[in-house]
Amino acid sequence: MQIPFDNSYTKLPDGFFTRLDPTPVSAPRMLAWNGALACNLGIAQPDAQVFSGNVVPEGAAPLAQLYAGHQFGQYNPQLGDGRAILLGEVIDSAGTRRDIQLKGSGPTPYSRMGDGRAWLGPVLREYVVSEAMHALGIPTTRALAAVTTGDPVLREQGPLPGAVLTRIASSHLRVGTFQVFAHRGQIDDLRTLTDYAIARHWPQADSPMGLLAAVCAAQAELITAWMSVGFIHGVMNTDNCTISGETIDYGPCAFMDAYSEARVFSSIDRTARYAYGNQPRIAVWNMAQLATALIQLFDDKDQAIQDATKIVHAMPDLLQTAWLRRFGTKLGLNATPEDQPLIEDLLAMMQSQGADFTNTFAALATDQARDQFSDRQAFDTWRDSWQARKPDTDLMARSNPLIIPRNHRIEAMIEAAVTGDMAPFERLNTALAQPFTKTDPNLHRPPTDQEIVPATFCGT
Ligand code: AMP
Ligand code: MG
Repeated sequence: MQIPFDNSYTKLPDGFFTRLDPTPVSAPRMLAWNGALACNLGIAQPDAQVFSGNVVPEGAAPLAQLYAGHQFGQYNPQLGDGRAILLGEVIDSAGTRRDIQLKGSGPTPYSRMGDGRAWLGPVLREYVVSEAMHALGIPTTRALAAVTTGDPVLREQGPLPGAVLTRIASSHLRVGTFQVFAHRGQIDDLRTLTDYAIARHWPQADSPMGLLAAVCAAQAELITAWMSVGFIHGVMNTDNCTISGETIDYGPCAFMDAYSEARVFSSIDRTARYAYGNQPRIAVWNMAQLATALIQLFDDKDQAIQDATKIVHAMPDLLQTAWLRRFGTKLGLNATPEDQPLIEDLLAMMQSQGADFTNTFAALATDQARDQFSDRQAFDTWRDSWQARKPDTDLMARSNPLIIPRNHRIEAMIEAAVTGDMAPFERLNTALAQPFTKTDPNLHRPPTDQEIVPATFCGT
């Protein structure tokens, strides 16, 4: 099997990673293969031996990356790839460098108490949701392959089928990668990392402060894009916050059904730190941690703090502008600040009446949104003021997805896959690839009371 590797991370200083091979598994079997993505990466065919970690392909330089991070606001000085191994990098058909990473590939020096493995459920969840995100036009890591290992993985529920996901990312650099060197006082390493990140992702940035500004802008766009499709990441720790601005780590994430600003799915998010409506604030908090790390690079700390503070303090405005633009297009408007109350009134009405987020916005273009509300008079009043703004229905059709990966569909897909039935996975994946096209009405439908999945669990 030929993969056109072109590795750069392995050339960074030794302390950045640990070189090691994936741990072999007993009976690898290919479950899902993303042929179109493979083609972009110059990978000819699926190979369960390679994408389970049993065979290290020629040119690979397998390694586990070091990083740290704030988890739920608490600094953890030592994280790292505990169950992932970077096989290497390729340059894709668009000329972009991409990481090829196996997730669930066995223990590493960074595994702490974990087994280094993943079970089938979270692997397929990440596969489906990350590919759905890509189809929605939102920056994200992608899924190339899912392989079952033939080995059981022990979790609270008991033994579960083990699996390995092949994840593709424009890099796995995170805020936590900067934090680990800054906290340890390894300033030369921090400088090397900063130069590497600028060259790889933001070549127009000419300094650490330029990098900070670029990442702030990318994260503001990303989080607003999540908000516009009702996505709740669930674990916005600084180790899950990329420098590229891609969505990463689909653990206990979920798309909301009924709209609620306070919605939380993750069973481990007990204080609702990562609730839907908190996500913009958390993104700013995460950028403040990146700023804190980058400040270590400067001799004149007072000046650096001033400069970094200015950049981070500008982020709420970036978020607000992006939010207005995104939600404006959802209403078919080139929104101005005067349109803000119009958007907020709709959201408030949706929240108080439990309207489905995706279906309400989708129905606005077809004039069936009224059915989503119990207080129809209130909706009619709102609609009149909205219609007075002469919404562009083509713009709405391009901005409001008809289908999102709903939690109950994902759970049903996983249950079927565990019994060996991949048909629901295929159906879901195919429909989600064209989110602006009407398909199986069953997949558009919100859950019934019996189908509701109230909480999601971390993918570990
Ligand atoms: P996550 O919440 O998935 O972003 O993971 C947080 C940290 O825990 C990372 O350092 C992971 O590598 C590590 N981790 C998560 N699950 C496992 C596992 N099953 N085995 C070893 N390390 C893990
Ligand atoms: Mg993570």
